[in-house]
Amino acid sequence: MTIHELTIHQLHDLLAKKEVTAREVTEALYNRIRVVEGQVQAYLMLTEEEAYRQADAVDQKIRRGEAIGELEGIPIGLKDILCTEGIQTTCGSKILKGYIPFYDATVIKKLKEKGTIFLGKLNMDEFAMGSSTENSGFQITRNPWDLKCIPGGSSGGSAAAVAADECIAAVGTDTGGSIRQPASCCGVVGLKPTYGRVSRYGLIAFASSLDQVGPITKDVEDCAILLGGISGFDPMDSTSVNIEVPDYKSFLIKNIKGIRIGIPKEYFIEGMDEDVEKSVQGAIDLLSQSGAEIRSISLPHTPYAVAVYYILCTAEASSNLARYDGVKYGFRSNHYDDLLEMYSRTRAEGFGKEVKRRIILGTYVLSAGYYDAYYRKASQVRTLMREDFRKAFEEVEVIVTPTAPTPAFQIGEKVEDPLQMYLSDILTIPVNLAGIPALSLPCGFSRKGLPIGLQIMGKHFDEGTVLRVAYTFEQSTDYHLKKPPIT
Ligand code: GLN
Repeated sequence: MTIHELTIHQLHDLLAKKEVTAREVTEALYNRIRVVEGQVQAYLMLTEEEAYRQADAVDQKIRRGEAIGELEGIPIGLKDILCTEGIQTTCGSKILKGYIPFYDATVIKKLKEKGTIFLGKLNMDEFAMGSSTENSGFQITRNPWDLKCIPGGSSGGSAAAVAADECIAAVGTDTGGSIRQPASCCGVVGLKPTYGRVSRYGLIAFASSLDQVGPITKDVEDCAILLGGISGFDPMDSTSVNIEVPDYKSFLIKNIKGIRIGIPKEYFIEGMDEDVEKSVQGAIDLLSQSGAEIRSISLPHTPYAVAVYYILCTAEASSNLARYDGVKYGFRSNHYDDLLEMYSRTRAEGFGKEVKRRIILGTYVLSAGYYDAYYRKASQVRTLMREDFRKAFEEVEVIVTPTAPTPAFQIGEKVEDPLQMYLSDILTIPVNLAGIPALSLPCGFSRKGLPIGLQIMGKHFDEGTVLRVAYTFEQSTDYHLKKPPIT
């Protein structure tokens, strides 16, 4: 295998044994990017100079004979929603063009301290609003398995880059499915941690009560390593929780005997793709053969999830995005006569169509006279959904479902139909509303050769059991070893 195809754990061994230098690894990745990036278009910006500086620092340490950590010298990509000191951060939006943060997000700071190398900033749907990365204000990222297809979204750049071996791993964010759905579309592993597990400080806010940062990787072991690298309490984020971070690698055991797995009947919805249903059923059978106990369960409020989510996330977005007024960040319109016009022209020119749609919807559901009917009602139903999960988890340790109702669709297929687009996340959204962790990993391919993802949900702060089930499944299959036909 060539360097760019390796995983974090494989590369770590080579670096520690001095069989390769961090500089060589970084060069190998940039070479790979040069070869395939024209087709995939995953990166918004490459940060070569900084990457080589980070690599040289790691190499010096290795030459001095010092031991290196598991993430040290590993080149990864970053979703362009995380603030990086001195490096432009656009959140996929023209309104943030030219915005250079003067501080690092906590996740970035943690990874820097661990010696991780940052290759560049990855494309995404504008402000993380979307399921296909077609809402990016800059470019359309393509699915490495079929360049005519979307990579999923909103972390589409991150998932496509990992699948195309343009980085060893990546960091994404997930508000309603934005790590898991693109991971599913691109045939890689993605995990949304428990709300509060990873700091949101320096993560550009979309819907603050739902947003979480998480890993996108080539296999489950890498997922455990990267999760460990970014998790933990942060006094700068009042919603981060002060619970000890376990050694996630200790959960990587190929044994799920006696684990109770719930299959919620509401998730096998009408209109689900036949290939998805078949692969997921096959996966459930395999989990059962591996010794897990499969139980049918019910999460009765599931049918309300999409409606609840699109009330709450738009409400939060309308408030969070009020700060982009042309004064404090990035872009300002050139055409205005007075202050008010400057604000409105900046927002009219800077925001894309989907972002405007959500600001308008969110402002409406929060407005006097409608608040009770929409925002308050949605918050109440959210509580009922959390209760559904709480009850289900009295009976089972994890819940298994498909990640998305279909494999990756074609570019352009759903852009004109927001409702169809919103339905891509019907199976991932409940997890964010409940604040629980969930992982997606490859569990098969469609007849057209597109990856299919299996979603494993766990109890609050029980990422460990999710990883254990995922690892057991992965080690009994070879889907994660398949590579897209891109050269
Ligand atoms: N696709 C969903 C949305 O458009 C989820 C996005 C996300 O998780 N950031 O809101």
